Amino acid sequence: MEKVNKETYSFQSEAKELLHLMIHSLYSNKEIFIREIISNASDAIDKLRFYFLSHPELNKNSIDFNIYVSIDKKNNTLSISDNGIGMSKKEVIENLGTIAKSGTKKFISELKRNTEEKNKLIGQFGVGFYSTFIVSKKVIVKTKSINCSKNEGVLWESYGKGEYSIQNIKKEETGTEVILFLNDSEKIFLEEWKINNIIKKYSDHISIPVKINSYNEKEKTYSFKKINKAKALWSLKKTEIKQEEYQNFYKYITNDINNPLIWTHNTVEGTQEYTNLLYVPSKAPWDMWNRDNKHGLKLYVKKVYIMDDVQQFLPNYLRFIRGIVDSYDMPLNVSREILQENKIVSGLKKSLTKRVLKLLKELSINEPEKYQKFWNEFGLVLKEGIAEDLYNKETIANLLRFTSVFNNKSEQTLSLESYIKNMKEKQEKIYFITSDNYLSAKNSPHLEFFKKNSIDVLLLSDKIDEWMMNHLTEFKDKKIQSISKNDESLNNLIQEENKNQKIFEKNNFIKKVKEILKDKIKEAKFTNKLTDTPAVLVTDSADMSTQMAKLFSAAGQKTSPIKYIFEINPNHLLIKHINNISEKKQLKEWIYLLFEQALFVETGSLEDPNKFIFRLNNLLTQKIFTIQ
Ligand code: ADP
Ligand code: MG
Repeated sequence: MEKVNKETYSFQSEAKELLHLMIHSLYSNKEIFIREIISNASDAIDKLRFYFLSHPELNKNSIDFNIYVSIDKKNNTLSISDNGIGMSKKEVIENLGTIAKSGTKKFISELKRNTEEKNKLIGQFGVGFYSTFIVSKKVIVKTKSINCSKNEGVLWESYGKGEYSIQNIKKEETGTEVILFLNDSEKIFLEEWKINNIIKKYSDHISIPVKINSYNEKEKTYSFKKINKAKALWSLKKTEIKQEEYQNFYKYITNDINNPLIWTHNTVEGTQEYTNLLYVPSKAPWDMWNRDNKHGLKLYVKKVYIMDDVQQFLPNYLRFIRGIVDSYDMPLNVSREILQENKIVSGLKKSLTKRVLKLLKELSINEPEKYQKFWNEFGLVLKEGIAEDLYNKETIANLLRFTSVFNNKSEQTLSLESYIKNMKEKQEKIYFITSDNYLSAKNSPHLEFFKKNSIDVLLLSDKIDEWMMNHLTEFKDKKIQSISKNDESLNNLIQEENKNQKIFEKNNFIKKVKEILKDKIKEAKFTNKLTDTPAVLVTDSADMSTQMAKLFSAAGQKTSPIKYIFEINPNHLLIKHINNISEKKQLKEWIYLLFEQALFVETGSLEDPNKFIFRLNNLLTQKIFTIQ
């Protein structure tokens, strides 16, 4: 080997970190390095096939694509080679010396924090090429890019510590060979049966033949034997595919170590011809809420791989769906730009969306427990659909799950349908309350009336809920009503009357309250909704709700302060007491205390908490003096 042109480089620091973490934490699942190398080889071949579509002159003899696996027991090496697109020197440095993927930094810090979940996290991330160092003391990559001449091959070599070296070599064939010098303790990976098993397990369904250099005892010769089926899984008939094969294919395309929850596999003929194989994962990926989270489907056109992560086939609120679409109508030279405004794509999006929603609906009916698992993982994302997808709103609303007063636990398990089934005789609306968290929703004073009358109320406390409920005002002809908003129709349900009406009227109580609070409130009135609470604040039906105002302010947007309707409980002892106060200053202090209490409960904060505490302490002190 020529050593003259050898150059040594240091791994990018993130790459170093990942290497270290991986070698020390992936021990229980080390065989996946084979899956990773084969998947890279298969990607490289897919890329070359795609490249040939625009450079047919380069593929005169129609290359036969293969991945070859060779075992060398004498030298303890396992080598995997492909005749794919290969890499130039620059690409080798970029691809094997750095981690180009966005979000890696976050991933690494997550990995450090989350020791128990390490294996899972790494599984989701797709460890890639570096996984070879779990089992190897040294790795050599020989490669030549389709864009370089045969003198311009590159040899990359590393011991997986801090550095790698690169030298120019002559390499006749375009493609890549990865040679693993296995650790002495990993000789098991030199056994043909072992390699066969692993490849069958992880790579059976990839469309490129994987061939192993097999020794024939009788003839004492070596020959390459095909290990995998080498047929695109989705192009087979459903009846020919085993459950396990579906699951393995999912793992192969997603790098997830968990099995998918469910999937749907369809071939459609007619105006649009396509095959889809769509999976619902069983666990949400660690980066689902990252802005740069990669999602979308793998696109094939007539079984030729075109590209990954195509987001145009499904709406954003279904971004957790993984899988492939193979279109028979799209042109082979389709680009990301074309996809943006392609009619075939928008047609496909419509039908794939329907298909996924149908899949979820059936799951919710036939396997509610499994559906609950789905909801716990992805419910928050699905909720976005209520605002996003007008056309399928009713279907999505049917899929929503809530917690409620009667539910009595924070897990969201109640559907709108079952809420309706349990409605009281005179009840016409579906009631809900939004709050910052489950407990504050559950203990809200707005609920007093409903609890007393055994009317269930949905308790919503996810960040997105306020926004979602703004778009969900009706379900199956039933109005959906926030109980922290003014609702005249409630009067029909209220039987009790204000027993102290006359005394209050004589004192002009409401008028006094209004005079004291002036423009701090929109309106003041008595209510019979309350039992244990002296007063609450509600927003007028057309006004912005408290939760919505909080959302705006969290997003840094200014809104004018809410003017509340002040609802007072005439049957409460405290109110009766206040009604009897004639001294003006005293009365003002009490009314302010009531108002600020109610404001605190409604909004969770006060503009000037010191003032509130001061007022409270003053009144308490006076009380003590009177008792003494
Ligand atoms: P990923 O495959 O997820 O991109 P990997 O760590 O597995 O990450 O590989 C890093 C990159 O190295 C690939 O994206 C590809 O560009 C390049 N690469 C790896 N193996 C090959 C190969 N056999 N042929 C061509 N390029 C390869
Ligand atoms: Mg890879």
